Parts: sequence; C-alpha cells; structure tokens
Amino acid sequence: MSCIFCDIVSGEAESFVVASDERAVAFLDINPFANGHTLVVPTRHVTDLLDSADVLSDIAPVLHEAAGLLVDRLGADGINVFQSSGAAAGQEVFHLHMHLLPRWHGDGLLQDLVGTPSAVDDLERLHHRLTAR
Ligand code: 5GP
Ligand code: ZN
Repeated sequence: MSCIFCDIVSGEAESFVVASDERAVAFLDINPFANGHTLVVPTRHVTDLLDSADVLSDIAPVLHEAAGLLVDRLGADGINVFQSSGAAAGQEVFHLHMHLLPRWHGDGLLQDLVGTPSAVDDLERLHHRLTAR
C-alpha cells in the first residue's frame, strides 16, 4: 500500500521537516490555509483517530515543539489544532495527521464555523445516547 506520509517519514518523498523525533514528524503542508500551516504525523502508519489511542501520546512532544516554533519564529498570535478522521470529515490522506494552523488576530480564517445554541433537553437526550449502558 503506498502512503505519501509514510514516504515523507522515510525520506523517500521530499518535505520540509520542522521538528521530529523517533515517533513523529512535523512538516510544512504543501497547500497551506495560512503561512506556516504544519502537519504532524506519527512515524508508524495509523489511519485515523479511531485506529489507536497511544498514537496521540506518540505525537504529543513534536506537536508541542512545532506549535512553539509557529509562535516563536513566525509570531503567531494563536494556533488551531485539528484532525480529520474519515472521508466525511474531509480526510484526504489516510495516515493520521494533526493540522497545526497558526492564527493572527483578524486573519478571518474559520469564520464559517459558528455554533447554534442547544436546548438543555436536547443535550440531555444526546448525553443519554452517548453514555447509557
Ligand atoms: P486532510 O484533508 O487529509 O486532513 O489533509 C491532508 C493535507 O495534506 C492537506 O492539507 C494537503 O495539503 C496535505 N498534503 C497532501 N499531500 C501532501 C504532500 O505530498 N506533502 C505535504 N507536505 N502535504 C501534503
Ligand atoms: Zn502512512
């Protein structure tokens, strides 16, 4: 099975790595939403968030280091971290990756994501569906 992010991890495919350790690699996204948009991947092939719990701790140190670089070197005012699991969520590369999106005051990104207030009984029903045994 070919996987572009496995190829990046192994060095077979070109990428601009900004941080790495034996368990994770952070590199620049080739189609950035903002200057400095960075992806953090585990070095082992994991498809998505449902695939593994430990992988989150595997990537945590590199995720933290790359976030620090975006603030310290690019002067980001903030950072969004997001991850898409499954095609319905927009996942296009099926090797788990966290997006690190540097943000600046007034950059206007992600403005379409607006919440809708929920009634308490709706939250109650939802809570029951998620937690009932
Ligand atoms: P997804 O939609 O799966 O959450 O995000 C995939 C991301 O990977 C996209 O932001 C896309 O620009 C990036 N991407 C896809 N192919 C490559 C590649 O070959 N190199 C790099 N650096 N980024 C890639
Ligand atoms: Zn892979």
